[in-house]
Amino acid sequence: MLPSRFSCPVWRRPDRDRIAVAPVGPREVVDLVVVGAGFQGLSTALAAARSGMVVRVVEARDIGEGASGLNGGQVIPGLKYDPEWLIARFGEEKGERLIDFASRTADAVFDLIEGEGLDVEHLRNGWIQAAHTHTAMGNAEERNRQWRARGADVTLLNASDIALMTGAHGYLGGWLDRRAGVINPLAFVCELARLAVAAGVRIATGETATGLRQESGAWTVSLSGGQSISARTVLLATNAYSGRLVPGLAQSLVPLHSFQIATAPLSEAQQEAILPHGQAVSDSRRILVYYRKSPDGRLVLGGRGRMSEPKSEEDWAHLQRALLRLFPALSDISIAHRWFGRVAVTPDHLPHVHEPEKGLLMVAGCQGRGVGLMTAIGPRLAKYIETGDRTALPFPVSAIHPIPFHGLRQIGVAAAIAWYRLLDGLEK
Ligand SMILES: Cc1cc2nc3c(=O)[nH]c(=O)nc-3n(C[C@H](O)[C@H](O)[C@H](O)COP(=O)(O)OP(=O)(O)OC[C@H]3O[C@@H](n4cnc5c(N)ncnc54)[C@H](O)[C@@H]3O)c2cc1C
Repeated sequence: MLPSRFSCPVWRRPDRDRIAVAPVGPREVVDLVVVGAGFQGLSTALAAARSGMVVRVVEARDIGEGASGLNGGQVIPGLKYDPEWLIARFGEEKGERLIDFASRTADAVFDLIEGEGLDVEHLRNGWIQAAHTHTAMGNAEERNRQWRARGADVTLLNASDIALMTGAHGYLGGWLDRRAGVINPLAFVCELARLAVAAGVRIATGETATGLRQESGAWTVSLSGGQSISARTVLLATNAYSGRLVPGLAQSLVPLHSFQIATAPLSEAQQEAILPHGQAVSDSRRILVYYRKSPDGRLVLGGRGRMSEPKSEEDWAHLQRALLRLFPALSDISIAHRWFGRVAVTPDHLPHVHEPEKGLLMVAGCQGRGVGLMTAIGPRLAKYIETGDRTALPFPVSAIHPIPFHGLRQIGVAAAIAWYRLLDGLEK
């Protein structure tokens, strides 16, 4: 079994008693059952309840024990692709709608935190995409051109700008997106749950959905505790943690783990030298690392990790090496926290919306941008569930396409990661 210190993130967790959970009673009938209490499930449940639906959420673990409580808390708008690519792929009208949605995903998070007065540490001071090669710098220039043409608050950084803003070694420059920021993700998911309960949502934790069946227009969800719930609509908000409830869903996602480390608190001088203005950073390597400071002044750094569950601290050693490559002055600092979680990546690097049968809905695949994306998609999903209007959904509804030889994919991904690390190392 995994040592519990490897599943415990650095983030402050609000008092669990603030969220009034409600165990499932016999034969509940509701409008909407949401499986999974992460950003996606809770944001949808909140919007649906506020529009008058009776909503039940079931979560297999505790709130925040999926990716939503384990992530790096970088709130980054946009998708992996730039606006012109999205227009070419989806056409003018759908492409523009998608760009409009994607450009506001960070607003959705910060508006909720500030508008609802949530107890969530947050700072909206931008995200830096750091470039370590001329190719990456060219990509940053292109991204900057496209977003500036749309009026976004973004700018290019030269080598001395980025050295001052990050305190890190080895960058030629980069791109600053001021729409972005950082939050305490564990506090945010817990506060979302509290808000949802206040809006009338009933949440059961430690309750796994084990089966789904449809009878005369209604769905019944069977639960590990022995009860069942019926509803017109079921949202499977299980994302990277999807299991066998819907055939092929888990097999349509590339299985990846993201690992993170947090240092001991930085000294005052280190605080001033490293990320003095508190931005989040992702670099441009093939196997990228991302980092930020925590609200209590530690450096938190993450990146891809081994495909199977970690066994010892050695499984985080590659992140410690990355930390020292970027910040050699931290050679004596100790690592206080190590943890990891699952990330859902799709083969086309776009989030996927599926509705294999009427009333059975799911969204998966955030490519590491789910804090903004999954928070912002909630009200859209709720609107679609309420009205049936598919234009409410930012992404097209597609069929589930399991990846061929998915079982062998882990080996392929592990080999690709090793190869990309080698190439990244040669570019140092
Ligand atoms: C280490 C790490 C770092 C990351 N860093 C960032 C970042 O800095 N910025 C960013 O934007 N994104 C980041 N991400 C991605 C982001 O966290 C996710 O995209 C986002 O949290 C997904 O939210 P969700 O609600 O869809 O899924 P989750 O939060 O994973 O929720 C799914 C829930 O479903 C539950 N579940 C699964 N099956 C069942 C079942 N049968 N019955 C009941 N419950 C079930 C799970 O227990 C889980 O709680 C990171 C992810 C990880 C793992």
